Amino acid sequence: MHRSAMTKLERESRSKLKPYITWKEFIRGTPTLRKQTCGKPNCRCQKGEKHTCLVLTRSLNGRPEQLHIPKDKEEMVREWVENYHQVQELIEKISSSYWERLKRKG
Ligand SMILES: [Zn+2]
Repeated sequence: MHRSAMTKLERESRSKLKPYITWKEFIRGTPTLRKQTCGKPNCRCQKGEKHTCLVLTRSLNGRPEQLHIPKDKEEMVREWVENYHQVQELIEKISSSYWERLKRKG
């Protein structure tokens, strides 16, 4: 599609998508904070102050997969997941502009 034939929304969406495709990290997955006890008898987790661990899950070809994320990578992984959502949102906007196009000409 030539840029001049695109709607404003499509042009904007494609521009915003560019950094994600060229260099920004993104990952599809659901981050879940799991609470657990470690088993040490005198640990604070035995008194209800449980340890937390971030787990990233996804389903690929019908198979579930999960990864434990180290504490120092939690923030980074959450950002990658947020980036993935941005990519999805932008792609949906571009797709919608073609839905509109087909509806108009139909
Ligand atoms: Zn503990």
